[in-house]
Amino acid sequence: MTPTADVHSFAEPDRVVVRHADLDLTVDFERHILRGTATLRFERIDPAADRLVLDTRGLDVDSAETGSDGRWTSARFDLGPADSILGSALTIPLPAGSDQVRIHYATRPTASGLQWLTPAQTAGKRHPFLFSQSQAIHARSWIPMQDTPGVRITYSATVRTPPDLVAVMSAAGNPTGERGGTYRFSMPQRIPAYLLAIAAGDLAFAPLGPRSGVYAEPSLLARAAHEFADTEKMMLSAERLYGPYRWERYDILVLPPSFPFGGMENPRLTFATPTVLAGDRSLVSLIAHELAHSWSGNLVTNATWRDFWLNEGFTTYLERRIDEDVYGADFAGMEAALGREDLDDELERLEDRDELLHIDLSGRDPDDGATRLPYEKGALFLRSLEELYGRERFDEFLRCYFDRFAFQSITTADFVRYLRENLFATDGERAARVPLERWLEEPGLPPGAPRPVSARLQAVAAMAGDWSAGSTRTSDVPFGSWTTQERLAFLRGLPTPLDTARMAELDAAFGLTATGNNEIAFQWLRMAIRAAYSAADARLEDFLVSIGRRKYIKPLYEELAKTPAGRERALAIYRKARPGYHPIAQTTIDGILEP
Ligand SMILES: [Zn+2]
Repeated sequence: MTPTADVHSFAEPDRVVVRHADLDLTVDFERHILRGTATLRFERIDPAADRLVLDTRGLDVDSAETGSDGRWTSARFDLGPADSILGSALTIPLPAGSDQVRIHYATRPTASGLQWLTPAQTAGKRHPFLFSQSQAIHARSWIPMQDTPGVRITYSATVRTPPDLVAVMSAAGNPTGERGGTYRFSMPQRIPAYLLAIAAGDLAFAPLGPRSGVYAEPSLLARAAHEFADTEKMMLSAERLYGPYRWERYDILVLPPSFPFGGMENPRLTFATPTVLAGDRSLVSLIAHELAHSWSGNLVTNATWRDFWLNEGFTTYLERRIDEDVYGADFAGMEAALGREDLDDELERLEDRDELLHIDLSGRDPDDGATRLPYEKGALFLRSLEELYGRERFDEFLRCYFDRFAFQSITTADFVRYLRENLFATDGERAARVPLERWLEEPGLPPGAPRPVSARLQAVAAMAGDWSAGSTRTSDVPFGSWTTQERLAFLRGLPTPLDTARMAELDAAFGLTATGNNEIAFQWLRMAIRAAYSAADARLEDFLVSIGRRKYIKPLYEELAKTPAGRERALAIYRKARPGYHPIAQTTIDGILEP
């Protein structure tokens, strides 16, 4: 694929394109900065090109050099004005014959892609912790880079930490034993900049299978290994469906609770929130999702953030296929039905322009496009194709798609062309029934879009109706024997707001305020705010102060902000919680509360 114009990058990869990055970074936990060098090997696409343009945000650049054949000359550099979304272009003039640049730089404590945690913010309380989140355009806040998913690089790195800490990256070379403070990594497969990832802290490792394992703080390691025990099974299932796993190892890093996302599909090393450690493996769809990105997203990548649905819609579809294979059709069916509910909620909330799969994000932060829509509408679109063409044929189509575009970055137009040539062309009569334009370029859903239902969840919802009508007693609700998904469906099926006496009755019977399952806690706390159920006040504050996952905290702050008194309370909690949140989560909540 030729590099595609990306409105979220200053880079000019159609003239000069970076092919390899070699990093040498020291992790300074005292000053909350990374300091070192990035050496970039590039290729001139346009032989007359005389400059390299990189993306940066808030980097302190000390000096630059250009090189060829191991000889280095100091270079001028120009750091452009800072754009509030894109950061600053770093331009380095290139002498004829040069094929490398080296940039000496440091990050700032406010880098949007890094979070520095104090010992108190970790599980172990004794060592500091650092982790990165580069998607969508935060890699540029810790590495000067052509930060567009249309450009793929290999990388190598030397990372220096205090001697008693461990560094890991989205690369080969993650340590499983010895600590020493100097770690070397290499990433031989080509990846976009948003998959560059680093973490450092008091990390221990436990194997899960022959090519998988988990990193976590020592006190969380056993729980994490138990929760993720099915990882190899999921890998085998995904390989059976979509072809070989091409990244050699699949490890999982469990982060502290302030991680703003559920998971991040950093290649070879998924970053995961500890909020999925439910004890009963009921929330491991998250791992199926991040693993599925090893095909959709990491192997075949959206070329720009407009095409984000190619990453997330495909991955959500694949996730449910892996769920079905490993945990059965009932489980996957519940997930799909809950996903459809999420989509309906999102469609009620979003503006029309944000309901397009092929969304226009010009002039906006690409993080604005990260709603549930590309995930669930994208998955529904693929499901509609599966239903129309039959599972066997559609599976074959997807397998070929991953082969055809492996290690490439593609646009929605590239996908559409491939779809027409390889699926539609085989059956014109069926193709005529696909409202392609409506799926991709219009808001809402086309008529006849699939509506996944789950008989188990429908039965639970009926029981919620009976309970609220008074025809089923609390003691007859088998809450304790239900799965997490059924419990959620029961709570979602209740009228809102519920009166406080009824809230108290459920709480007394099922221990909802005290639950250790974060999905259930989130659903319950949202109901508690609506119902003004004060018995959950302390838990709500504790939840918001200790967890930074946006999926949970954003709707809770939004719910609080609906009344003046709630807003006051939200601000009081946020004052305590904000220092512990990731910069990305801070931006989100600042936007809701405008403190
Ligand atoms: Zn994803």
